[in-house]
Amino acid sequence: MEHVTVVTGGSRGIGAATCLRLARDGHRIAVGYRSNAHAAEQVVAGVRAAGADAVAVRADTSAEDDVLALFDAAAQRLGPVTGLVNNAGIASPLGPLADLDTGELRRVMDVNVIGAFLCARQAARVMTAGGAIVNVSSTAATLGSPGNYVHYAASKAAVDALTLGLAKELAAAGVRVNGVAPGFVHTEIHEQTGDPNRAANVVARIPAGRLGTPEEIAEAIAWLLSPAASYATGTTLRVAGGL
Ligand code: NAP
Repeated sequence: MEHVTVVTGGSRGIGAATCLRLARDGHRIAVGYRSNAHAAEQVVAGVRAAGADAVAVRADTSAEDDVLALFDAAAQRLGPVTGLVNNAGIASPLGPLADLDTGELRRVMDVNVIGAFLCARQAARVMTAGGAIVNVSSTAATLGSPGNYVHYAASKAAVDALTLGLAKELAAAGVRVNGVAPGFVHTEIHEQTGDPNRAANVVARIPAGRLGTPEEIAEAIAWLLSPAASYATGTTLRVAGGL
């Protein structure tokens, strides 16, 4: 089967590592990004260097028209879409819920929930010949992130429910839907927390004694997208060093 995969937030962090990992499995990849075109083009170059084809597509996943255009561009430039890595997401400044700004709450829900649903919906519409979706969740969904960002945790719990429900909806159509829940991973997302020492401050909580790498998350995503995971659907795989 030819793999044509849309990776949202493919320009940096976990998404970028996933694009490069999927290239090794021969996926043709639409590298979605919101604003950093240079980073996205670097990922495209990396995918091509690995022998696969790729295209960078600017698409804010919280905007319906952008999502439709992203899937259209992928299909036109690479072929019928068979995979989605629903990865684009944002964090939030740390603090208790009592101090949360309403605009910040809406922004996180807009990207992490509405964006993930818009992309999953479009995948469900176009994957008429079967396919696979991986939603990128977080251990926050089951830990709650008290005092940090309960709203972010709740947004990822919504992603887990999306995984479960859509997997059951699409199983008979040959579309598998799974999730990956990373713990703390070395990426630039932590800069959004406002804590310059975020990595050092969380490491004591991680049983494995270190943060994960984007490549370690990409391995799990690649497996769930692959035929090797043919009987896995509706599950969220925790990749979190024991967290
Ligand atoms: P990151 O390094 O900050 O990268 C975020 C990526 O998402 C970038 O490619 C960015 O595009 C894109 N993006 C952000 N908002 C977008 C939007 N509205 N529309 C389209 N693209 C958007 O983040 P990351 O750490 O790799 O996180 C990836 C996913 O993993 C997120 O869903 C996050 O919640 C989840 N996660 C991360 C961790 C962690 O510790 N890193 C832990 C658990 C879960 P630009 O380059 O154009 O800005």
